[in-house]
Amino acid sequence: MDLHFVETLVRPDRRAALPEPLPGDAFVGGGSWLFSEPQTRLRRLIDLASFGWTPIEPRPEGLEIAATCRLAELAAFEPVAGWPAASLFRPSCDALWGSFKIHNVATVGGNLCLGLPAAPMAALATALQGVFLVWQPDGGDRLLAAIDFLTGPGETALRPGEILRSVTLPATALRRRAAIRQASLTSHGRSAALLIGTSDPGGAMSLTVTAAVRRPLRLDFRSPPDAAGLQAALSQRLNPAVLFDDLHGSADWKRHMTLRLAEDIRRELAA
Ligand SMILES: Cc1cc2nc3c(=O)[nH]c(=O)nc-3n(C[C@H](O)[C@H](O)[C@H](O)COP(=O)(O)OP(=O)(O)OC[C@H]3O[C@@H](n4cnc5c(N)ncnc54)[C@H](O)[C@@H]3O)c2cc1C
Repeated sequence: MDLHFVETLVRPDRRAALPEPLPGDAFVGGGSWLFSEPQTRLRRLIDLASFGWTPIEPRPEGLEIAATCRLAELAAFEPVAGWPAASLFRPSCDALWGSFKIHNVATVGGNLCLGLPAAPMAALATALQGVFLVWQPDGGDRLLAAIDFLTGPGETALRPGEILRSVTLPATALRRRAAIRQASLTSHGRSAALLIGTSDPGGAMSLTVTAAVRRPLRLDFRSPPDAAGLQAALSQRLNPAVLFDDLHGSADWKRHMTLRLAEDIRRELAA
C-alpha cells in the first residue's frame, strides 16, 4: 500500500547518520506490517535495511541476530553442533502464517517491535533467554531481557526514538533441548497459543507461553515437573488478567489449549 502521508525516506548507513527523532517517524524493518495498512500519523520513514547489518553472527557467547534479519534467513540457519535449541528457528518462523513473500521481507526486529501477543520471535527470544540491544536516540545503548520487552498487546518497552539493534541468544540456552507447540483457531490462522519448552541435562525445565497471554509468560522448574505439577503451576498463572481474548480465540479456549500443549511439551522433553 502507498503511504500517502509520508514525505521523507531516510536511509542511514551508519549510526551517526540517524536523524534527530521527530513526531511522525517510523523505523522500517521489512515493512510487511507498515505497508499493509494506512499510516496517517507517519511523515518520515527511516529504513533500517540500509545499515547492512550481518543477519546472524555466531559468537563465543552465543548467537547475535540483527534486528533486520529476515524470518527466511533465520529459518535457513544451519544448526550448529551442540546447539540443539537452534532447531526451534524454523518452526518458530513457520508459526507466522504468512506466505513466502512475508517471510522474505519480515524481520526479527519488526516482529518483536510490532508487539503482537502472537509474535513468534517473542516466544523464541523469551524461551532462549535473549538479550536485546537497544540503541537510544542520544547515542547510548541499553540491554533488555527478552521477557521484559513485550509489555502488552501492541506495547513494548521501547521508548520514543529507540531502535532495537539485535537479539543475542546465549550459548547456554542454545545448548538446551527444546520443544515447540502451536495452535490456531483456523488452519492458517494467527497463533492462539504458542509454547516453547527447554530443558537442560540436569533436568531443569522452562516453559514459555505466548499468544494466549497478553505478554510472554515464563515458568522455570528446577527439576522436571510431573503432569499434575505442571498443570497446577500453569493454571495458577493463567488467570483472566493475563489471558488474551481476541478474534483468534476466546480466553477460555486459549487457556485450555495452553494447558494441553504444555503437557505435550513436558512429555517430549521428559522422553
Ligand atoms: C499475511 C500476514 C500475516 C501475518 N501474520 C502474523 C503473525 O502470525 N504473527 C505476527 O506477530 N505478525 C504477523 N503479521 C504482522 C507482521 O507482518 C509481522 O509481525 C512481521 O514480522 C513484522 O516485521 P517487519 O519487519 O515487516 O515489520 P515492519 O512492518 O517493518 O515494522 C513493524 C513495526 O515495528 C517497528 N520496527 C521495525 N523494526 C524496528 C526496530 N529494529 N526497532 C524499532 N522499531 C522497529 C516499525 O516502526 C513498525 O511500527 C502478519 C502480516 C501479514 C501481512
